[in-house]
Amino acid sequence: MSEPLLEVTDLTKYFPIRKGFFQRTVGHVRAVDGVSFSVARGEILGLVGESGCGKTTTGRCILRLIEPTSGSVRFEGREVVGLSRGAMRSLRREMQIIFQDPFSSLNPRLTVRAMLAEVLRVHGLARGAALQERITALLRQVGLSPSQAARYPHEFSGGQRQRIGIARALAVGPKLIVADEPVSALDVSIQAQIVNLLKDLQRDLSLTYVFIAHDLSVVEHISDRVAVMYLGQIVELAPSGDLYRQPLHPYTVSLLSAIPQPDPDRQRTRIVLTGDVPSPANPPSGCRFHPRCFMARERCAQEVPLLREVVPGHRAACHYSEELLASGGAVPVTVQPANA
Ligand code: SF4
Repeated sequence: MSEPLLEVTDLTKYFPIRKGFFQRTVGHVRAVDGVSFSVARGEILGLVGESGCGKTTTGRCILRLIEPTSGSVRFEGREVVGLSRGAMRSLRREMQIIFQDPFSSLNPRLTVRAMLAEVLRVHGLARGAALQERITALLRQVGLSPSQAARYPHEFSGGQRQRIGIARALAVGPKLIVADEPVSALDVSIQAQIVNLLKDLQRDLSLTYVFIAHDLSVVEHISDRVAVMYLGQIVELAPSGDLYRQPLHPYTVSLLSAIPQPDPDRQRTRIVLTGDVPSPANPPSGCRFHPRCFMARERCAQEVPLLREVVPGHRAACHYSEELLASGGAVPVTVQPANA
């Protein structure tokens, strides 16, 4: 098997909680707590979970926009954590990010042409006529007209601004793109256009994505594999088709049950997650999902479930995944879902 493009091992990011006059550290928010996964070249990995589950922090730690507390991030076999600023700057050409809110990530004082020219010049990628040609090609690639290059960000719609953000990421010719909720701020009607654009670009340019979203329905059609995060940890990781057809973690079952099904024969039992997400500063004992889990038993509050391979290629962190497997992805009949 060929070496993965990206390999994340036991990644953690703890943010200190400071209090008092002397700002003493009184605890830590465990935003990312032992996350491991790899992404093959040309693969799209969806990273999904509720707000505050650590998916965005994970994405930023990969690019070292946030310094990880511990763990390893290897890109093309090379360790990224601990690299000097200079070495990291040249590596950033290979690893780019697309932000959720394109408006705040674009410089309002620069036209689109000036913005793209700046990126190309800083990285020494084009000058003179070649620079203009490159800008024209980039705009066409993301579905904008070269005639729009003289405009400022505020003159564009939300979807168009995200296209500019994508063009800026593509300008340096990256291999890996971390797309951090790239469609969450957009109207539903525009979301599919941007997802399709990203999919086309991935195919045409042989890109690799870590595609972050809070909604499983957004990543369903774009991801090859999906990792579901809860309270700073991955609780399920599987090929996309397997995860949607037969989720093996109760949290994933709950998230999927909230997605409307157009086919009445495929309706799922609706499971409403009760209670708020617990604080990552003081996560629950045992399985972190147990206070909200419709399958929880005594053992769950005491014993931490490991992320294990339940069936080949399909991993889940639940003591009772086999029950979900036996039930064919439906809620086991012996269990009464809360608020179903
Ligand atoms: Fe639910 Fe227990 Fe599985 Fe955790 S280990 S997901 S609490 S059944």
